[in-house]
Amino acid sequence: MSIAKAYAASSASSALAPMDINRREVGPHDVQIEILYSGICHSDIHQARNEWGNSIFPMVPGHEIVGRVTATGSHVKSFKVGELAGVGCLVDSCRTCSQCAAGDEQFCENGMVGTYNSVGKDGQPTYGGYSTSIVVDEKYTLHVPESLDLKGVAPLLCAGITTYSPLRHWKVGKGDKVAVVGLGGLGHMAVKLAAAMGAEVTVISTSDNKEADAKRLGAVNFVNSKKEESIQKVTGTFNFIINTVSAPNSYDMYLSLLRTNGTMVLVGAPPTPSAVTGFNLIMQRRSLAGSLIGGIRETQEMLDFCAEHNITSDVEIISMNQVNEAYERVLKSDVKYRFVIDMASLKS
Ligand code: NAP
Ligand code: ZN
Ligand code: ZN
Repeated sequence: MSIAKAYAASSASSALAPMDINRREVGPHDVQIEILYSGICHSDIHQARNEWGNSIFPMVPGHEIVGRVTATGSHVKSFKVGELAGVGCLVDSCRTCSQCAAGDEQFCENGMVGTYNSVGKDGQPTYGGYSTSIVVDEKYTLHVPESLDLKGVAPLLCAGITTYSPLRHWKVGKGDKVAVVGLGGLGHMAVKLAAAMGAEVTVISTSDNKEADAKRLGAVNFVNSKKEESIQKVTGTFNFIINTVSAPNSYDMYLSLLRTNGTMVLVGAPPTPSAVTGFNLIMQRRSLAGSLIGGIRETQEMLDFCAEHNITSDVEIISMNQVNEAYERVLKSDVKYRFVIDMASLKS
């Protein structure tokens, strides 16, 4: 066992504060990673505040992790000490069910083990990336391309894969008109990835001040969802919408922007439901779907795609003790476009 420094929430109403945690001994199949950067996902906030009702405390959030390998178990074949490594939202699964066999470990029929807010196979709570080190089975550890700026790679491990996976599943590409709803961490990755896949991208946002960024990131069009006439102009025009909004929002309004046979995929996970009018789906044979992160194989594919297209996240680097302030700014949609914690700030 080793001790790692971390930041933890001790209850749904407490601010994150320093805490020492135990990391398991490096087993034969394990990789030990010194964490260099850790992204802040809105899911960290939902869970640290128990908004989804399934929180385990104390909680060390963080599932966008990049670092360097500091030790490997005797059976580890694919990682060497000193190499870069990444860890995303899951660190284990049953490995035998049909979903695991298909590489969709996120849908493991026996329950995946989340990087934090979960219980590992050893019966111990899992603690995430707001910490100085982590020990993970090599099967659930990602290879990080050396060519990319490491700070901007961390958010790919959740925001990147969560938007890449549905774009691939629904085969988005050239000739597709795609709308991205919400220009936050997930949204800005969706814009970059969909544009790199050849789609024509429109950003639908509540923040007028994000228009120039939307275009710089790869969108050709920007729509303010609060302006009726702007929404009218794009009604019935998209064949695919990826909805990344973290708060309850008008699914009906966004569904009306789809063409016949179009699909809106929800990746944003507001804690409370929003109404959907059946007729809105029926009349143009529209679909409403959801998507959860992505499996390990697809996460590696996404990282390799990003290396090929030189895609990283736009980040604001903070020190560990700024995390509570960063949470408040995320809640105000005031982040461009992902906070990433420099873990050196926790070591010193
Ligand atoms: P984020 O950075 O806070 O981005 C969310 C964006 O939604 C904001 O920047 C804002 O964009 C827009 N928004 C916020 N409140 C809104 C409101 N009341 N009405 C309309 N738009 C609003 O969050 P994130 O890290 O990208 O995460 C987004 C959501 O995805 C969260 O719920 C998170 O838990 C979830 N998530 C799901 C998965 C999955 O596997 N499905 C994985 C990761 C995260 P504008 O300023 O442009 O309007
Ligand atoms: Zn996340
Ligand atoms: Zn399984």
